Amino acid sequence: MNNDPLTHGLWERTAPPAPNTNILSDDLYADVVVVGAGYTGLSAALKIGTAGRSCVVLEAEEIGFGGSGRNVGLVNAGLWLQPADVHKALGQPYGDRILSLLDQAPSVVYDLIARHGISCEASRPGTLHCGVGAAGDRQLRERERQWRGFGADVVLLDRDETAALTGSKRYSSALLDRRAGTIQPLAYARGLADAALAAGAHIFTKSAVRSTTRQTDGSWRLTTQNGSVTARWVIVATNAYTVSPWSNLRTELVPLPYFNIATTPLPPAIRQSVLPQGHGIWDTKEILTSARMDQAGRLVIGSVGALRHGGAAIHEAWAKRAMHRLFPQTRNIPFESAWWGTIGMTPDHVPRFHCMADRIVTMCGYNGRGIGPGTVFGIALAELALGTRALSQMPLACQPVRRITGRTMREAVYELGSAASHLVTDRF
Ligand SMILES: Cc1cc2nc3c(=O)[nH]c(=O)nc-3n(C[C@H](O)[C@H](O)[C@H](O)COP(=O)(O)OP(=O)(O)OC[C@H]3O[C@@H](n4cnc5c(N)ncnc54)[C@H](O)[C@@H]3O)c2cc1C
Repeated sequence: MNNDPLTHGLWERTAPPAPNTNILSDDLYADVVVVGAGYTGLSAALKIGTAGRSCVVLEAEEIGFGGSGRNVGLVNAGLWLQPADVHKALGQPYGDRILSLLDQAPSVVYDLIARHGISCEASRPGTLHCGVGAAGDRQLRERERQWRGFGADVVLLDRDETAALTGSKRYSSALLDRRAGTIQPLAYARGLADAALAAGAHIFTKSAVRSTTRQTDGSWRLTTQNGSVTARWVIVATNAYTVSPWSNLRTELVPLPYFNIATTPLPPAIRQSVLPQGHGIWDTKEILTSARMDQAGRLVIGSVGALRHGGAAIHEAWAKRAMHRLFPQTRNIPFESAWWGTIGMTPDHVPRFHCMADRIVTMCGYNGRGIGPGTVFGIALAELALGTRALSQMPLACQPVRRITGRTMREAVYELGSAASHLVTDRF
C-alpha cells in the first residue's frame, strides 16, 4: 500500500480489490461518523448502516491500512491473558462480560463472513498454541485447565498429536482451540467495507481527520483537508495507527513491531506435510514464532521485529533458519514477500474503552488479538451510538487515557531485542 510492499505484502497481492472510494470533498451530515477503516470502524459502520442510520467512514489512507491489513490472520477467542488474569485485571462484571463476548467473537467473525459472502480464505479448523520445553508445557496445561473451567472447546495435545497436526517434531505439546481459525486479513477488511457500503454507509479514503469542533447544537464537525462531516456521534477506530487529532491515544500503547514472511506456494508433496489440516500456530516463547498457510499453499512465518534499518536482513535470515528447523522439508523453498506492522500493547494486556468527550468514543489496545475483538467491539460501539446499548453495558468500563512512561524506550527494546535474539537463534 502507498507503493510500499513492506506494509501489506502477500495480503495486498492476493486480496480481492478494494471497493472504489473517493477523497472527501464535501460538507456532509450523518448520524454517526466513524474514523478509521479497520475491523473496528468497518464493523461499526456495517452495524449502523444495517440499522438504517446514516454513517460516514473517514480513513486517512486506505481500507485495511492499519493492523487489519497486515496481521497473521489468526482468528482467536479470548484475550492474550488467561481467564483468571482477565478477572484479576478487570474484576466483575467486566471480567465475565469480556470473556463471554470474546469467547463468541470468532463465531461473530465467521457468521459475518458467511452472511455477507466475504471472500477471505476463511477456514476454521482451530488454532494451536504450541509448547516449547517444560515451561511451555506447564503454561499450556494451566491454560487448558482455566479455559475448560470456563467451558471453552479446547484440548491439550501430546507430542505425537501435536506433530500430526503441525507437521513438525519441534513441539512437546499444543493447546488446540476449536473456536478459532484463519482468514486472509486484508480480504476480510475489504469484505467488511463492501458489506458496509451495501448497507448504506459511505467510506472516504485518503481523508485523514485533522480537527474536531463542537457545534452549538451539540454535534461534532470533523474536518479533513477538503471537506467535513457533522454528526451527533463520533466513533474513533484508529487504534495503534492513530494520527492527530487523537494522537494522545498512541501515548497509552507500546508499539510492538511484528513481521511476516511468506514462501512461494509449496509443491503438493511438501504442502501435505506442513500444517496439513490448515491450523494456524504460535508458540510459548517470549519472542514467539507464528506460522500458517494461505489458500494457495504459501507458508507464512512471523515473529516480533521490524523490517527496517538492519532488521530486514536479520529477520529474513532468521525466518529461513526457523522454517527449516520447524519443517526441514521446506529447505529449498524461497520466500516471495515480507511485510510488517505495529501491534498496540497495553501494560496489563487488556484493551481500553474511552469516552473522550460527550459522544466521542473509542476502543483500542488489542494486544495482537484484534480480528475477533475489533469486530465485536466495533458492533458494541455502534450499538452505543444507536442507543440500543447503555454505557453501563459496554464490554469494558470507560476510563481516562493514561500516558505510559518509557514508551519509546520499550519500543526500542522490542525492536533491538528481537533483532539481537534473531541474530543468534536457531543458528546451532
Ligand atoms: C503484524 C501484526 C500481526 C497481528 N496478528 C494478529 C492475529 O493473527 N490475530 C489477531 O486477532 N490480531 C492480530 N493483530 C492485531 C490486529 O491486526 C489489530 O488489533 C486490529 O487489526 C485492529 O483493528 P482496528 O480496526 O482497531 O485498527 P486498524 O486496523 O489499525 O485501523 C485503524 C485505521 O485508522 C486510520 N486512522 C488513523 N488516524 C486517522 C485519522 N486521523 N483520520 C482517519 N483515519 C485514521 C488508520 O489509517 C487505520 O487504517 C496483528 C497486528 C499486527 C500489526
